[in-house]
Amino acid sequence: MTTRALKKSTANPRKPTRAARAKAPGLKERLAKGPGLMARLAKGPVICAEGYVFELERRGYLQAGAFVPEVLIEHPEVVEQLHRDFVHAGSDVTQALTYYVHREKLRVIGREKDLLPMNRMALSIAKKVARETGTLFAGDICNTNIYDPADKKALKEVDRIFEEQVGWAAEAGVDYIVAETYSWGAEALLALAAIRKYSKVPAVVTVCFHREEQLRDGWSAAEACKRLEDAGADVVGLNCHRGPDTMMPLLKEIRKAVKCHVAALPVPYRTTEEQPSFMSLTDPCCGDARAFPTGLDPFVCTRSEMYDFGREAYALGINYLGICCGAGPHHIRALAEGLGRHPEASKYTADMSRHAFFGTNKKIRKVQTDYRSRL
Ligand SMILES: [Zn+2]
Repeated sequence: MTTRALKKSTANPRKPTRAARAKAPGLKERLAKGPGLMARLAKGPVICAEGYVFELERRGYLQAGAFVPEVLIEHPEVVEQLHRDFVHAGSDVTQALTYYVHREKLRVIGREKDLLPMNRMALSIAKKVARETGTLFAGDICNTNIYDPADKKALKEVDRIFEEQVGWAAEAGVDYIVAETYSWGAEALLALAAIRKYSKVPAVVTVCFHREEQLRDGWSAAEACKRLEDAGADVVGLNCHRGPDTMMPLLKEIRKAVKCHVAALPVPYRTTEEQPSFMSLTDPCCGDARAFPTGLDPFVCTRSEMYDFGREAYALGINYLGICCGAGPHHIRALAEGLGRHPEASKYTADMSRHAFFGTNKKIRKVQTDYRSRL
């Protein structure tokens, strides 16, 4: 027996281990947390900013393609600042950037050895920001990209991915766990089962639709969400891939089909009936090339479109609202303001009354306002 093993075996069994101590929130932490997700949803909307991976790519800290947030190791301060930017803009949630920090994605980029450090880093950054800002601290698990109903070995690996990531999130003391971006309904059910089995926190489970109005298992949006609700999800709904216009019809069906809270987190892009997902958008200015992922700029929704989306979804009875890939803090602020909020960033919401040409303020000279029609 090694010295370390000997020490372990003779340790006082009643003394909590460091891991167990980390699991139990102290009084200070419990006070800092405030009401949990379900209590907040019962009172009104909860805003959850997502889309970290796309925003970090735009900022030059993450590579499009694999979309793995290696930035967690290379520039953790950038991730922390992004969380703070979204909270400043109105997010009620700080979600750990563990999207695509799973075994399969790290295998693709050859960084399996960083699996645990990257998960721990993402969770600790998000926890720090959440506890300092009074926002909810959410864990995150996602599509594995190896799910295949006909491949038993792959299904085992999917279970392993969910088990370990849920375990690390629970250990970090998350307030709830998001399971997101599943284009297989049955994979979403496996994710939910893992949250139920390996944590005691609420589960928000969202699936995603590409061009077809069915998941890869053939389930409709309403059917998938009903199955998730029946299996014990606390919040069900949609995230990613579809913009506000092409997500809204599916949301209406879901709202009618389930009794639990519904989540809606579209991408902020102008998707259409012909091209309903952001991966299907083609740009007529560039030989109809696929715009995804780095040519999507001409399709970005304006702030007022996201303002309207939030209001419309909330009026339908959808309380869990956010924006996925492509969201910037300006979109989150608009969403928050549409719901009657006044986040810190609203201090700088546009006021054109003081504009050099368009301003109505008395201090704006006539020489400028007279020139308006020629601008
Ligand atoms: Zn997304």
